[in-house]
This record gives sequence, C-alpha cells and structure tokens, in this order.
Amino acid sequence: MNIQNYINGGFHNPIQNNWIDNYDPSNGDVYGQIPNSCKEDVENAYIAAKSAFPNWSQTTLEERSRILLKISELIETKLDKLATAESQDNGKPISLAKAIDIPRASSNFRFFGNAITQFASESHESIGLNAINYTLRQPIGVVGCISPWNLPLYLFTWKIAPALAAGNCVIAKPSEVTPMTAYMLGDICNEAGLPKGVLNIVHGLGTTTGQAIIEHPDIKAISFTGGTATGAHIAKTAAPMFKKLSLELGGKNPNIIFADCDYNEMLNTTVRSSFANQGQICLCGSRIFVEQSIYETFKKDFVEKVKQLHVGHPSESTTNIGALVSKPHLEKVKNYIDIAKAEGGTVLCGGNEVTIEGYENGYYLEPTVIEVSTDECRVNQEEIFGPVVTIMPFKTEDEVLQMANKVQYGLSATLWTNDLKRTMRMSNHIQAGIVWVNTWLMRDLRTPFGGMKASGVGREGGFEALRFFTEPKNVCIKY
Ligand code: NAD
Repeated sequence: MNIQNYINGGFHNPIQNNWIDNYDPSNGDVYGQIPNSCKEDVENAYIAAKSAFPNWSQTTLEERSRILLKISELIETKLDKLATAESQDNGKPISLAKAIDIPRASSNFRFFGNAITQFASESHESIGLNAINYTLRQPIGVVGCISPWNLPLYLFTWKIAPALAAGNCVIAKPSEVTPMTAYMLGDICNEAGLPKGVLNIVHGLGTTTGQAIIEHPDIKAISFTGGTATGAHIAKTAAPMFKKLSLELGGKNPNIIFADCDYNEMLNTTVRSSFANQGQICLCGSRIFVEQSIYETFKKDFVEKVKQLHVGHPSESTTNIGALVSKPHLEKVKNYIDIAKAEGGTVLCGGNEVTIEGYENGYYLEPTVIEVSTDECRVNQEEIFGPVVTIMPFKTEDEVLQMANKVQYGLSATLWTNDLKRTMRMSNHIQAGIVWVNTWLMRDLRTPFGGMKASGVGREGGFEALRFFTEPKNVCIKY
C-alpha cells in the first residue's frame, strides 16, 4: 500500500516521485511505500498552511474546540483499525496499541480541545502609574512538528493538537519508519471538518523532508521529539533564524530502588518500566540501581519474571514483547549487548535474537538483563532504546544520587521508597524533568513534560504547550 502526503485537505504523490520502502517489523517484509518528499512538497504544504492561517487563527475557541473534540471522537471510533495499523507498522503488541497508543492519541485531541477553552492571558495593573498591561497570546503562524517512531500516533498528536488548538497551521512529519497512522489521520481530519490546509502531513526521510521543514525560513517554530544528535542538528540549523524550539530528546533514566519500598508493586512495575514497548519508550528506566540489602533477592525475582515475558508476533494476545522497530535498530541493540559483555557485564537473562515460526525474518530480541559493576560503562551511559536494562547494587543515598546524575541525559527518574524525607531529598536533587515516586509513566496531561541536560529544551503538556505555540505580546495602556 502506498502512502501519500496530506496537503491542503487532499492526498498527493511526492513531486519528484521519490519513494521509500515501508517495512513490517514482525516479518521483515516490505508492505508499502511512502513518499520521500522534497523541498517543493514542503513548500506546497507551506503555501496551503499559510493561506489557511488567517481564517483558522480567527476561528472562535468554541469552534476550534468542537473540531478537535470531533477528531478525538473519530480516533476512538476507529480504535481497532488504527491499533492494527500501528502494530503492523511499529512491531508493538496490538494489545499495547489498543490500550495505550491510540487511546492516548484520542486523549491528546480531547485534552487540548478542552484546554484551549480555559487558556487565559494575563493582565497587570501598573498601580500609581495609571496604566494597565494586558498580554495577548497570539498564534505563531505556520509551525513544524516532527516526531519519532516509538509511539507514532501518540507523539505525533501530542504536538499537533496543541499547535492547532492555539490557532496555528501545521506542517507535520511523522517518522519515516512508522508513517501509517499519521497517514490515516488525514482522512480523520477531513471527516471532522478541519478546514483545508490547517494541518498538512508530509512524509519522508529526516535528511530530506525533515531538513526542508527545519530550514524553511517562514516555518517559525519547530516542535521536535527524537534523538539527541538530531535535536542538536535542528538547534544549529534553526537558531540563526530565531525559530522557537521545543526539543524532546533521548534519556538514560535511573530506576532507584530502596529496601523500604512496596516490594511486589515495585517488582511488577519495574518489569513494565524496563520492557514496555520493547523498551523503546524514552521514559523507560534502563539503569536499575538496587539497595544492597535487597539486591540478591531482587536480582533473582526480577530475572525470573523477565524470563516469563513472552516474545511473540505483535498480533497475538499472549505477546508481551513484540518486534523491534527495524533491522538497523535491532542490530544497534544487539551491538550494545556485545559491548556490555566486552566491558565485563554479565548477561543474567536474554541477549539473543528470537526466531518465531512463520515470521523468521522479524526483528525479535529476548528481554535482556545485564549485571554491571560500574556505572561508568557504555551501556550505562549511552541510550540503547531497546529491551535491555542493567542492574547494579548501591550502598548509600549519596552514592546512588551521584550515579543517577552522572549521565549526559536528564529526562525522567523513578524512585521506590516509603521514606518521605528521602523522597523529598532525592526528588529535589535528581537531575531529571520528571520524577516518578512509587509509580511509573503515570501521566496527567496538565503537567510539564520534558527533560533537562541533553534530554531537551522546553516542556510540553498542558498550558506549557499552549504557551510554546503562541507568541506573547504585551500591550501597555496609559489612562
Ligand atoms: P530521530 O532523531 O532519528 O528521528 C526523529 C524524527 O526526526 C524523525 O521523524 C526523523 O525523520 C526526523 N529527522 C531526522 N533527521 C532530521 C533532520 N536533519 N531534520 C529534521 N528532522 C529530522 O529519532 P528516532 O530514532 O525516530 O527516535 C528515537 C529517539 O527519540 C530516542 O533517542 C528517544 O529517546 C527519543 N524520544 C524522546 C522522547 C521525549 O519525549 N523526550 C519521546 C520519544 C522518543
């Protein structure tokens, strides 16, 4: 099946007739093609967005909200179809796509459809000076949204929904590795009555299509989620044009377990926070630090549970771990397992590719637990982004805090303890944009979402996202 660009409400082949193969990770087959859009395709999307902007930016909040809520509802209605497509495109278990990815895409539109009706600007009375200031929050114009492959529709809509709600017109590019549900979103937007040109979806490689978006002088803001190296390149390209930038990048998140935690809950959640979505979630806790006194017990129990995870075809209801997203990604993750061994790590379970009968060319890998003796090793410093975690013991709070912070990243951290004072101390000092205590990936869409250090710049979520997608303008009136 061939995917097309969605520009000005219609579907179009790429101008240069340049196509990329789209792979099904569950069996390694090419099952379709997607445009590798060039500068001219992006320019056409820009022209459509620009001409839609005057009307869309003046559309009442009630009307914008109504359309976004309709998109949300349609995503819900098409849950099965979208989840099947997401699972085939990405390799994730269909059960996960049904329970998490697609419902969250729907929630993103619902949340921002409602949030925009509550978004207010500020006013400041300059007392004694006979003046009043009020701040307008005006849409930026045409903005670019670029997203990765791990949570395709979920992260794509997490950017698009606030951008549209705030009154911008959007040029969006999903990952070339997982373009399918973004393609399906075009029809949904038409059905919901989104005016032509308000959202345009162009497909293609980062280096061609993505590059054309970030280089475009009149696309005034870029919201990007993806790897840290790509984020640095985008910043370098966009900064001289003074574009607004929101960068959500990689992570190497610590999962810190103290002996006083609720053990069973910690154990079950730690299996999830290690291997959900084949470990391909930027928030997965890939460095597990366990307090010495429970280390041996944890090691035994954790490995036993991980061994029970079923690696299988994404469409099977019994599958816990589906396929990795692509052949190059599988090779990258396997390479890290070799690096871990070469550096003296001990593979406690997993480490091997899995062959599934009937799907021998799929990209399957056992969930892998590696015991390391130092936090300095590469597997504890570099983002692997696959079903691989490391474990090591710690003795003191200070020691584990130092290790937790001694990475270039600062996205999220998980803390397991019932000691209130320790919770407060650790949460204050951990270098991460998000700290979960006695839970993982519990999300309230109103909260600021994003990382510090090499994990990014800016925050998404709630009013933070609406602030990003608007330009504040202060008006001072003397009376
Ligand atoms: P990636 O950086 O390779 O690609 C992300 C997107 O950027 C894709 O759409 C790609 O085509 C595009 N791109 C690549 N080069 C570009 C360029 N020169 N100009 C413009 N666009 C370009 O990342 P990926 O491999 O798709 O995703 C995995 C990474 O994403 C991991 O590092 C992961 O941690 C990160 N991630 C972060 C978050 C977060 O919220 N912080 C969430 C999910 C994933």
